[in-house]
Amino acid sequence: MTQHTRVDLGQDDIDPVMPLTSGPTLLESAAASPLVGDVKVQCDACPVLCHISPGRTGACDRWGNVDGVLTRVDPVLVAQQSGAGGEMFVTGVGAGTTYPDYKPAPFIVASEHKGVDMVTAVTEGIFSYCSFKLKIDTDRYLGPEQGNVRHKGEIVGHVTTAEYGSQMLSIGGVHRLTGGSRKEGRATCQLMADLGNKRAVDLSIDGGAQLVVQAGRAPVVDGVTESRMRVGCGSATIGIFAKQWLGLIDEVVVVDDHITGVLSEHPAGSFLGMRFSGIEMKGRRSTAGRYFKVANPGTGWGGTDIIDPLNIIEGFDANLSWAGMRLLMVSTTGEHSAYFVLDEALCPQPATMPPAVRTVVERIAENCEPALCTVLFVGGAGGSLRAGVTESPVRLTRSIKEALVNVTCGGAPAYIWPGGGITVMVDVSRMPDNSFGTVPTPAIVAPIEFTMRLRDYADLGGHMEHIIPLSEAVKRASVRYIALDAANAWPLGASPLLG
Ligand code: SF4
Repeated sequence: MTQHTRVDLGQDDIDPVMPLTSGPTLLESAAASPLVGDVKVQCDACPVLCHISPGRTGACDRWGNVDGVLTRVDPVLVAQQSGAGGEMFVTGVGAGTTYPDYKPAPFIVASEHKGVDMVTAVTEGIFSYCSFKLKIDTDRYLGPEQGNVRHKGEIVGHVTTAEYGSQMLSIGGVHRLTGGSRKEGRATCQLMADLGNKRAVDLSIDGGAQLVVQAGRAPVVDGVTESRMRVGCGSATIGIFAKQWLGLIDEVVVVDDHITGVLSEHPAGSFLGMRFSGIEMKGRRSTAGRYFKVANPGTGWGGTDIIDPLNIIEGFDANLSWAGMRLLMVSTTGEHSAYFVLDEALCPQPATMPPAVRTVVERIAENCEPALCTVLFVGGAGGSLRAGVTESPVRLTRSIKEALVNVTCGGAPAYIWPGGGITVMVDVSRMPDNSFGTVPTPAIVAPIEFTMRLRDYADLGGHMEHIIPLSEAVKRASVRYIALDAANAWPLGASPLLG
């Protein structure tokens, strides 16, 4: 297996100039460009148009002047199927970019899959319209919806909605990249690349928590590493475990910042014939045994600010409650729990939790999933990037919607949003490491591959004269062979129409 490593060069200062010519795209052309003379080469892979001195790289550290030739300094990652005769797939990682977009993609590769002639148009797209969506599995309160998310003091995104056991952040986006100060744009861009490249990043949320986020790892919230993702909301937890509590206990309160559950009042308890305990809860009663806003959000019990769970109980109805009543209070992850018995004055007194009750609490914890950070890249490839694939961009969009084209990012499956354009969404943890780069415009560089049958490529007006065989593609640049993430479908055969 051939291994080529990155060409290491020093970085030139940014030396942008406006284009005087629309020169050819790749390597050999740059040295011959009338702009550059015999010393520097001009990179035309993005609007910055760096002039690069011999032995140096341009402003993005991705292109260099190697012996007078403009060279993409990272190897192209080529995925190889395991086993004898395994197919190969050229990914966009390290492939290089063409700019302006009317030029064909850097690699338009012919290959064969199950006897069908295929084509893959491969590029590193430059995305100004893109963001990262972060799903943080935690009950701990991260911050108010619409709250600013900061990195090194700069606003880089905002808090969106909480989902079931997770809180969502949006990082980046075109307004952050282009609409603020230069410093804000650059800070955002670098942070986005770090997130995409699966590095740990520090975030702070106005009016909320300090976070450490890394794709595929547990989030760290205010210095505490999160371990469990809740089994359900307070009401669902009541429903799931009601039968197991029956006979062991008289009342269970599952404390949750959103929906706190009260067993004896909840349909799960009443259907099992439980006697209502007479407990009176704080907050707003939504439906039987389901309470909203029992406390403020926080990093205590069940995503509330509660340290002492008894603080969410208003009292006990003297006509319904009884001395000796057994009360369990537990959080949605089982991380917090406390057991009480009511005394003659109907005051809950701490008591030793019986082992059978403890077993159900432990079962709540067992049923939690590991808390993780998920990092999704969302990018708009519906613009000019399509011109590298076809002379009629809308035909590519239509072909993707008709499932004639399989879109991948670094070989990872991309979800295409419905509606117009080509808005891709991909889980970065399924992409090769260090798939993302930046250019100082600022924008994100991300790999993207469009795979389809040769005849469909011809039909959509593809750059047929630029197709090269796979065998030539792997000789044309420094390449590194990799295995794709085991969860990824093989890109050449992923679409039903591709066989
Ligand atoms: S920033 Fe990078 S891609 Fe853009 S012109 Fe400079 S070297 Fe080329």
